[in-house]
Amino acid sequence: MKFDTLIVGGGLAGLTCGIRLQKNGVKCAIISTGQSALHFSSGSFDLLNELADGTKVDNPLAAAGRVGANHPYAKLDGKFAYYVREAKQLFLDCGIEVNGDAERNHLRITPMGTLKPTWLTFSDFTQLSSPHDIAGKKVLVVNIAGFLDFNTKFVADSFEKCGAECRISSINLPELERLRISPTEMRSTNIARVLENDKTLETLIRELAGKVSGFDSVALPAVFGLSSAAPVRKLKEALDIPVWLIPTMPPSVPGIRAQQQLRRSFEALGGVYMLGDTVVKADFKGNRVQAVYSINHGDISFVAENFVLASGSYFSNGLVARPDSVIEPVFGSDVDFTAGRDSWYDKSFFNKQNYMTFGVATDDKLRIKIKGEVQQNLFAAGSVLSGSNTIHEGCGAGVSMLTALFVADNLIKG
Ligand SMILES: Cc1cc2nc3c(=O)[nH]c(=O)nc-3n(C[C@H](O)[C@H](O)[C@H](O)COP(=O)(O)OP(=O)(O)OC[C@H]3O[C@@H](n4cnc5c(N)ncnc54)[C@H](O)[C@@H]3O)c2cc1C
Repeated sequence: MKFDTLIVGGGLAGLTCGIRLQKNGVKCAIISTGQSALHFSSGSFDLLNELADGTKVDNPLAAAGRVGANHPYAKLDGKFAYYVREAKQLFLDCGIEVNGDAERNHLRITPMGTLKPTWLTFSDFTQLSSPHDIAGKKVLVVNIAGFLDFNTKFVADSFEKCGAECRISSINLPELERLRISPTEMRSTNIARVLENDKTLETLIRELAGKVSGFDSVALPAVFGLSSAAPVRKLKEALDIPVWLIPTMPPSVPGIRAQQQLRRSFEALGGVYMLGDTVVKADFKGNRVQAVYSINHGDISFVAENFVLASGSYFSNGLVARPDSVIEPVFGSDVDFTAGRDSWYDKSFFNKQNYMTFGVATDDKLRIKIKGEVQQNLFAAGSVLSGSNTIHEGCGAGVSMLTALFVADNLIKG
């Protein structure tokens, strides 16, 4: 099989890159093992919340120039602001409704009800500018009876710390009885499927309408709108008070919806998306990749002019930690990591963890190095790259999207 560009990994980075390439007439295929980090997303896309030295960032656009030399943002040819605009536009073009501004992080509500800074938030969710937006509000926190991945008590406690007055309630719909038989079935995605039925959603809205009188807003788990945002819109329009959807524990309903919207956009542009297959090895000639091979296709090779590695970090097996090294298993790329396993992590779980900054080594065009040699047609994008600590710096989505767009532009320019 022959393509202009073959992308390994179909999460946020792989799909962003593929969409940009297809839009510019580059014929792409994406091979992807399975779930991406979007399936676990808490509904927001981070750009830059903190610098490596711990300095808090309110304005990512102004602070991006102060990241370290090996940070992926330092390798965008000075076009950070341009790619930030392009990334948001790509979401909107794909029908993914997001709010937010790169000149000022806003606050999003986490699954625990706490507030965290971020760049873009799905329009399903509430965007706050400060904890004062919650202070003094009477909030009804409602769960679906039997749903364990939304903790009303944590959410109410966090809101009350911000000065809100909360009441907890629950809703019991007969249509959810079948799921409730088994706790493993009572998951966000299954509930969302049941609530895609208009009549069931209307029943839930009627139940809610009977409870919300006297409250300023109602907080609900984000279990609405798996395949489109229509149920979210219907719910919000039907109630007289603001609806605050709170991200649940994974899987993430809006995250999965975004993944599907990106995939549909890529395929509508003519891209080929092969889900459920894993790239396992590559053929090289000199410093060029000739072909890759996957589990499902055995000896049948995928040949392309260029290859993009967007296989994610440890979570997606894009990086694999061995007892004394960290490897990239498909191409055998050079990986930046520190010697001595003890230097990889801090025993205090919430402290900054060094292993998060490890990743594949690249040049200033994000071409991968192997044994110190730059591979002429092999690029890396997203969380497989070294140089950023996505959790500590709060830059996960930004690194994935901006580097993917940058790599795509390098390929388009040729
Ligand atoms: C659990 C979790 C939650 C997160 N939540 C947020 C959040 O809310 N906001 C935020 O800004 N950032 C978040 N992040 C950071 C996240 O890393 C980025 O936002 C971004 O989504 C990562 O995208 P990616 O495409 O680089 O990698 P991934 O999303 O990990 O995608 C990589 C894909 O490659 C596939 N793959 C791997 N190896 C192969 C192979 N050999 N062959 C074929 N396919 C392969 C995997 O199956 C996967 O689908 C989160 C990260 C994790 C792990």
